[in-house]
Amino acid sequence: MPGAFGTQFADQMTVANFADGEWTHHDLQPVESMPMHPAAHVLHYASECFEGLKAYRWADDSVHIFRLDKHIERFRNSAAQLCLPVPSPGLIENMIWTAVDAARDVIPPLPSALYIRPALFGTMPNIGAAGRPADQAMFFVLVSPVGSYFEADKTLRIYVESKQMRTTPHFGQVKTGGNYAAALAHVSKARDRYGADQVLFCPGGDVQETGAANFLLLRDGALLTKELDGSILPGVTRDSLIRIAQRKGWETEQRSFQVEEMLRWVGDGAEAGLSGTAAVLAPVGTLVFDDREAKVNGGQAGPLVACLREDLMAIQSGQTEDPFGWTHSI
Ligand SMILES: *Cc1c(COP(=O)(O)O)cnc(C)c1O
Repeated sequence: MPGAFGTQFADQMTVANFADGEWTHHDLQPVESMPMHPAAHVLHYASECFEGLKAYRWADDSVHIFRLDKHIERFRNSAAQLCLPVPSPGLIENMIWTAVDAARDVIPPLPSALYIRPALFGTMPNIGAAGRPADQAMFFVLVSPVGSYFEADKTLRIYVESKQMRTTPHFGQVKTGGNYAAALAHVSKARDRYGADQVLFCPGGDVQETGAANFLLLRDGALLTKELDGSILPGVTRDSLIRIAQRKGWETEQRSFQVEEMLRWVGDGAEAGLSGTAAVLAPVGTLVFDDREAKVNGGQAGPLVACLREDLMAIQSGQTEDPFGWTHSI
């Protein structure tokens, strides 16, 4: 069983640099401190984006990455929004597989996995370039053996933030460190003041997502989550759960909804979950407001969250056939 999420790394990672209009051939390098100029663009102007995906070791010892193409597409979109040089799909795929292949021996058995963290950032040494894109950049793929992110069966306490925004309306779809920095003070406050695990951002009452996971409401045969309008991250787990629910014949709705409607669903016995690569689908037990609390499914982990999570994990781990073509191996 690996240590705390994100603290343990394979010995090697893949690295490529962008300069003079092109990417250098990438290399496997030891995971160690990297020299960086103190004027590097990312350190001043936050030109950075990343991805998070997983490789699983199946029972027959083969290694599979879940929805690699979808993560590559999102990474390229993030890079473009940050005006960073956009690596080709082939380069990204090659660097991911090279890093995963080099770590083959340290990929833990199921239900643990190898978490894959590609990151891209501007290295141009110029503090005068606040309003200009970085024309030098680094792209690496770091890999990390991980167990599960949340304790099984523990339900989450979620603070409902009805005023503050997680990020700007158009940047919500970009997987960038800056969005986490922008949300951090709100998340810390909710943890200190309300003992909350996460913050559900609902600016002006519009139920969006938490700092690092999408938010889903589930009731018998129905799923409700916000539509992709640029303000939320297009989660690959979110998309996968919607498609699994549709295949089961559930009614799935992607649309805007308000805090009052969320509370009506919860009052009618709905379950709620947070979805993401690390958490898969984690049950919400309590919604916390400034002056009161609302229990979700009596504060207990419910059967609908468990059912969707198990269906998804069975595909990821090769325990059932994959009707969607989501798992890729070499
Ligand atoms: C990464 C992330 C998610 C989850 O995306 P997955 O592709 O499901 O891992 C959700 N919200 C935010 C803000 C994220 O950064």
